[in-house]
Amino acid sequence: MNAAIVTVGSELLRGDGLDTNSQWLSRRLEGLGYAVRLHLSCLDDEADIAAMLEVAASHAEVVLVTGGLGPTQDDRTRAAVARWLGVEVRLDEDELAHIEALFARFGRAMSPSNRRQAELPLGASALRNEVGTAPAFQAERAGTRVFVLPGVPREVYWLWDRHLRPALLAGGAQRPRAERSFRTVGIGESRLAEALEPVEARAGIEVRYAAEEREGTVRVTLLHDEQREVHAAWLAAQELIGRHIAARGSDRLAESVVAELCAAGRTLTTSESCTGGRVASRLVEVPGASVVFERGLVTYSNEAKSDLLGIDPALIAEHGAVSEEVARAMALGARRAGRSDLGLGITGIAGPGGGTPDKPVGTVHLAVAWSDDPACVVHLHARYPGTRTLVQTRASAGGLKLVLDALQRSQEESP
Ligand code: ATP
Ligand code: MG
Repeated sequence: MNAAIVTVGSELLRGDGLDTNSQWLSRRLEGLGYAVRLHLSCLDDEADIAAMLEVAASHAEVVLVTGGLGPTQDDRTRAAVARWLGVEVRLDEDELAHIEALFARFGRAMSPSNRRQAELPLGASALRNEVGTAPAFQAERAGTRVFVLPGVPREVYWLWDRHLRPALLAGGAQRPRAERSFRTVGIGESRLAEALEPVEARAGIEVRYAAEEREGTVRVTLLHDEQREVHAAWLAAQELIGRHIAARGSDRLAESVVAELCAAGRTLTTSESCTGGRVASRLVEVPGASVVFERGLVTYSNEAKSDLLGIDPALIAEHGAVSEEVARAMALGARRAGRSDLGLGITGIAGPGGGTPDKPVGTVHLAVAWSDDPACVVHLHARYPGTRTLVQTRASAGGLKLVLDALQRSQEESP
């Protein structure tokens, strides 16, 4: 079953208001097993709204409309739906009585323009709105069901729960498809799609990708009608790209790091150079991080690396601040400085300047230590593409992922 959403409101097109109704309703429709095919937005204009309905109805069996049901002359949705249905509007006496009662309850005088809100296209049935004065309604034309709601988000949510959800459930939406999602780090969307080709080739499986630029992650969702097929696809995906999988389900990366640290009963101290505290910031966004996050040091200068982490200046002079040796020493030093179970070190060249032929912009060394023994350190030499901000975001995601890797290694070695 296909669905489409039409949002009406000049403010949406002028850039004054963001169309959050479409997003909210889409999630609910998808949850009931509908495929949302179109989002359309238009001005409060009768001909435009009717034209949008025409397009929406040619793509979907269910059309949701929000906005333009207010009492004023510039609220044109009622008239537009009537035009599209090819009928007149009429006054709905029940709705009028309801609106009058609402005004009486609030002790406010009802203006004549509010009467207009009780006008519905002939043949439409009202959906009683108990949280606002605009009545919602539903109508049908040639097999397309149209639900018309006010624009106010709070009213949309209420009407969905009270009227739309039950009506759409009864309307024979398919069983929602089974799905499973996870997040990856350190592999771009296109390489990911190549690596997962064998999964996409499985019969009936759909794979969706969403690059999350602000997180430096890619969210992958596997869908199928059957739960067991989704599970089989998930096992296959783990075989193919397991080392890039950083968070399962809807967890964000930092959430899964905090959860894993909690489960293992381990604490973490971070020392960051090129990321300037982004790893720490992402960790403290997670409620409950205080149980496992001991402290975060921003050791930007060479002196800071020596003063706060105890790194021998000669080591920095010999290898340079951006090097495997210094990243490892930062990880060990952070662990010691914070007296915590794990220590993270990140040092790199975020750009745009500062690159050299053998250490180009985007070069980042990351390390995590889980013991005083220099053998108990995982190290990653990465080269992140993109602007300064992107390098920093990707490096912080890389650091969080490396903490997960180190936790796993430490548990394998001393269970
Ligand atoms: P009412 O009948 O209650 O006056 P209406 O149907 O005329 O409502 P609008 O006047 O279009 O609705 O919008 C009312 C409020 O809802 C405004 O604050 C507007 O910004 C907000 N709104 C309208 N459409 C959307 C949308 N698609 N997403 C989020 N907010 C919206
Ligand atoms: Mg409006």
